[in-house]
Amino acid sequence: MPRSRHHNQANEDGQIYCCLRNRIVKLDEKQKQEYCGKCPMFRDWLESGVVCEWEDARGLPDPHIAIDPVQEFRDNQKRKVPLARSG
Ligand code: SF4
Repeated sequence: MPRSRHHNQANEDGQIYCCLRNRIVKLDEKQKQEYCGKCPMFRDWLESGVVCEWEDARGLPDPHIAIDPVQEFRDNQKRKVPLARSG
C-alpha cells in the first residue's frame, strides 16, 4: 500500500485528525509535545497544522490536503478487513 503525506490543516477550532490516536484532537502544545514529537508518522509542521505520513487505503494523492478532520476520521474507520471463510 502506498504511503501518503497528509497535510492536516487545523480547522477553525484548531482540530485535526490524528492517525496515531485515531481521533480528532486539538493541535495544541500538549498534542505536539506528547504525541507528535514522538510519532513515527510525523514529517513536518505547517503554519497551522502538521504533516503526517502513513499508508492510506484510500489511494490518495501525495500529498493529501486534509481540511476536514471529521471527514478524515470517518474515512479512516473504513478499514478493509478480509472476510472469514466458513466451511
Ligand atoms: S504526527 Fe502523529 S501524533 Fe501528530 S497528528 Fe500526526 S499522526 Fe498524530
